[in-house]
This record gives sequence, C-alpha cells and structure tokens, in this order.
Amino acid sequence: MKPLAAGNWKMNGLKASVSEINALKDSLDGAAPACDVMICPPATLVLPLADAAAGSAVQIGAQDCHTAVSGAHTGDISAAMLKDAGAAAVIVGHSERRADHGETSELVKTKAEAAIAAGLTAIVCLGETLAEREAGDTLSVVHAQLNGSLPGGATGATTVIAYEPVWAIGSGLTPTADQVAEVHQAIRAGLSALTSAEEAHSIRILYGGSVKPSNAAELMAIDNVDGALVGGASLAADDFAGIIAAF
Ligand code: PEP
Repeated sequence: MKPLAAGNWKMNGLKASVSEINALKDSLDGAAPACDVMICPPATLVLPLADAAAGSAVQIGAQDCHTAVSGAHTGDISAAMLKDAGAAAVIVGHSERRADHGETSELVKTKAEAAIAAGLTAIVCLGETLAEREAGDTLSVVHAQLNGSLPGGATGATTVIAYEPVWAIGSGLTPTADQVAEVHQAIRAGLSALTSAEEAHSIRILYGGSVKPSNAAELMAIDNVDGALVGGASLAADDFAGIIAAF
C-alpha cells in the first residue's frame, strides 16, 4: 500500500500560511512523492489551502468534526462542511481532543462514521499515556481504543489508524523501534479480528509522535508502519518535505 505522510497543524496557522503549501508544492515539483501527502490545517484554512493545493500532490484534510450533518450545534463543524470546503480526510480521536474535551472512543467512532458518510477518510488516533505505558497497559489501552473507535465497515479506502503515544507528542521523545513494532503489530492483529485479514492489510497504520526529518527514515522502516502523522514538523514546508523524502 502507498504510505501516507499527514501533517496536523493543530491550532496553528493564519491566512499567510498558504505560503507553506506553495513551498511544499514547489518542493515536490517534478518528483512524484513515494507517499501520499496531506496537510490538516485548522478549519479556517481548509478552503484556502485546498484552493492553493488544487492540482498538486498535496491533499488537504481537517481536524475533528461533529457527529451530525447540520443543526443547532453552535461552534461545531460537520464533516459535510469540511468536505464542501475541500477536505479529503479528517483527524478524529486525537489525544488532545480525548484529553481537552473528554472525548470517548464511542464518540470518536460516531465522528469517524459521520466523516465516512460525508465522503471523507477518517484518521482515527489511538495511544497510551506515559502512566499507562509504565503500568504495562499499552496494548490493552490501544486495543480498547481500537475496538471502541473503529468505524463500522472500516476499509483501507475509508479509514486510517494513527498510533500516537501521548508521551511522544510534542515532547521530542520517541518509542524504540521495538516498541513501535509491537504496538503496530497488535493494531494489525486487532484490525484483522474486527474486519477481515484482507481489509486489515489495506488499512494504513501511521506512527505519530515527534517525527522529524532526522528520525523519519528509521521510524518509517518499521514493520506495519504505513506512514506518519506529524505535528510540529509539518508546520514548516522544509521540515515536512524532509520527512516526505524519507519514504
Ligand atoms: C500530533 O499531535 O499529531 C503529533 C504527532 O505531534 P508532534 O509531531 O509535534 O509530536
């Protein structure tokens, strides 16, 4: 399967950030990247970035969506609106949403299903905290999140999983290659049990957490790692291009 490098801009970016998409396009110009390339900006930038990226190898995604298509939900944005603005995918269940907004796996699953119903790819995030890892609970936590958050009927075309250890996000820390391999293998096995062996092998499992140009090649070479979800290092086109070059 073709790997995916997806950038999560989180709550960063203003109109002027369109220049980063232009720079990213320029850096990819002429050489088809070995991976799919996506930037997920804040909702305010989905439309201008989708316009700027049109016709290039860069796809635009989004961050989070409501479970409903429309209605009385002040401040929320539906998957259909993100699709209409030009998004191809949406990140759901990020640990920052789970922590800051108390999002449960049950809610994440409903959001993922709403995203797919709107024609978006759902990028479903999972990952243990440091306390959970130190208690030896990593695999049980990740399994519970996968079981609870995976959208019904998930396929490789509709769903991407992102394994992001919470303690590795924005910290500069990364798990060892063995730790990443163990969790990704467990997620693949979990997907087999929840879907089918064939679908399980078509669903991309991204690694996320302090991926940068200097460690991307090593992380992306690990078994069952089908791409990266990148926060901080996706904000500057040069850094993100350095990660894309590692595929
Ligand atoms: C993220 O939050 O999705 C992430 C991976 O962040 P960072 O790359 O900055 O650790």
